[in-house]
Amino acid sequence: MKRTHHCNELRPSHIGQTVTLSGWVHSRRDLGGLIFIDIRDREGRTQTVFDPSDLAKELFESAAALRSECVVTIVGKVRQRPTGTNNAKIPTGEVEVGVLSLEVLNMAEVLPFPVDDPEVSSKVNEELRLKYRYLDLRRPEMTRNLRLRSKVATATRNFMDEQGFLEVETPILFKSTPEGAREFLVPNRREPGTVYALPQSPQQFKQMLMVAGVERYYQIARCFRDEDQRADRQLEFTQLDLEMSFIEREDIYALIEGLLKRVWKTALNLDVPTPFKRISFEEALNRYGIDKPDTRFGIELVDFTEEFRTSTFKVFSGAIANGGVVKALNAKGLADATQGQLETMTEYAKSFGAKGLAFIKVEKGEWKSPIVKFFTDAEKAALTSKLKIEEGDLILFAADQWLTACEILGKIRLYCAEVLKGKGLLKIDSTQFNFLWVIEFPLLGFDREQNRWYSSHHPFTAPVAEDVPLLKTEPKKVRGQHYDIVVNGVELGGGSIRIHQPDVQKTIFEDLLQIPADVVQARFGYMLEAFRYGAPPHGGIALGFDRLCAILCGTTSIRDVIAFPKTAKGTDLMTDSPGTIEPKQLRDLGLELKAPKIE
Ligand code: ASP
Repeated sequence: MKRTHHCNELRPSHIGQTVTLSGWVHSRRDLGGLIFIDIRDREGRTQTVFDPSDLAKELFESAAALRSECVVTIVGKVRQRPTGTNNAKIPTGEVEVGVLSLEVLNMAEVLPFPVDDPEVSSKVNEELRLKYRYLDLRRPEMTRNLRLRSKVATATRNFMDEQGFLEVETPILFKSTPEGAREFLVPNRREPGTVYALPQSPQQFKQMLMVAGVERYYQIARCFRDEDQRADRQLEFTQLDLEMSFIEREDIYALIEGLLKRVWKTALNLDVPTPFKRISFEEALNRYGIDKPDTRFGIELVDFTEEFRTSTFKVFSGAIANGGVVKALNAKGLADATQGQLETMTEYAKSFGAKGLAFIKVEKGEWKSPIVKFFTDAEKAALTSKLKIEEGDLILFAADQWLTACEILGKIRLYCAEVLKGKGLLKIDSTQFNFLWVIEFPLLGFDREQNRWYSSHHPFTAPVAEDVPLLKTEPKKVRGQHYDIVVNGVELGGGSIRIHQPDVQKTIFEDLLQIPADVVQARFGYMLEAFRYGAPPHGGIALGFDRLCAILCGTTSIRDVIAFPKTAKGTDLMTDSPGTIEPKQLRDLGLELKAPKIE
């Protein structure tokens, strides 16, 4: 009994045909001596009817013994559903199959949670879902996510192939590199004392592929970062990673815009307008307080440094005298913010080191705030006109160093947007995707604790050509040829034009990042050498593939688009990994595990 159709296929045009369907018992109803069973497979479901007058007695009895999720094959005749019983919700809703024969392929015990009712299953505790992931993935919503992910991967491969890219696999067993995050290490049995590291990204290999003359490389690559899990991160995740030779930043922008256009069309049938807008890192911080702005709504930050430079309100003028700035935003219509909401916002400010949060509520024609008494009429007039203050508004301030002030208000801006959405005062269309290139990042940041520079992106990013002379004199001012692609406040990916001259790369490693020469030699010696044998100018980017799929699936959790994700603690609840190993395995590796200390 081989299936003739999938469970989403039958239509009135099939009426009268004898068909064979295989799948799971999705739901079962016993009505007036008949048994109705919806059979589900990957593609959809079909209603089948078991009538004792059409079936041998023992077959009808086995149908009566079926419960949800048993696996069956049936043979039957397609017919019109009786008048008034059509189900418009499913594509096969006009027909049913009168069963002539049944084969029970496997029985199923009662499931730990139902998979046939989205209402119920969406409320199931996620740990339970992860423990029984193979059941969770039977839920049509999850099947849809897997399918969409596969479709996006195929569209990506087709597009990259059309653009002349070669798909090349790079090693998973690599060595330790300082790219930022902590690495997963794999002890090497062949030479005890040495270790492999799992790659945080294929960065170095893809650059070597450029030196090798591959010119256009891509890979849907698994990457590993042993970070303490922040919300919605995974220890292993997937990137669409690519690299190109003989290009400039514009070439990457055009390529990615074309790719995302294709992907959005394939997955959502939406036409994404290109080219995408561009915004500098500085402008993004100044206006939105974050380097991955959600530009679907305003609530922009406004600068008041000049207005408050000589203010009698010392919190503001003092911050400015200290080299800082004063910024504010207007959360329109939020004057009635609750005490709890204001406390949450104050906590945000405090988490950046601020002492508190200054605000004004505009209610009943009055500015309600303990700080207003310090403001001159001119200061008030400037606030009113630049923030367009009206009745019902809530004004929030930050007075701090530039970056801190921006970041405080950036966080508060997002919070206010959520509150306003909840109150129905801010509406965001779910089909609106605001793509944005964030550019002109500083090449370096300064770590005050360690008193040295670090790479904002990674040490292979090239400085903007005209800023190269500043590397020696004013490193802070050097801009990197780095770009991030952002959509609706989510960083989808980032990349850069790379350094391809061995001397510039060496200067960055040794003079600016202050990596000792012997360490540079041990870790990157091969790269510096490679660059001496004819390295083409090159650059690339990596997009977070899980994140991309989550956005397309309309879910906020990347776990919903990964077949077998790990929990926040890094465990796979289904297989119970990670696990322990045998003493012999440890001896082979020359390792000893210390038992955890019990307090
Ligand atoms: N390797 C970088 C990353 O993982 C991306 C790139 O520069 O292409 O963020």
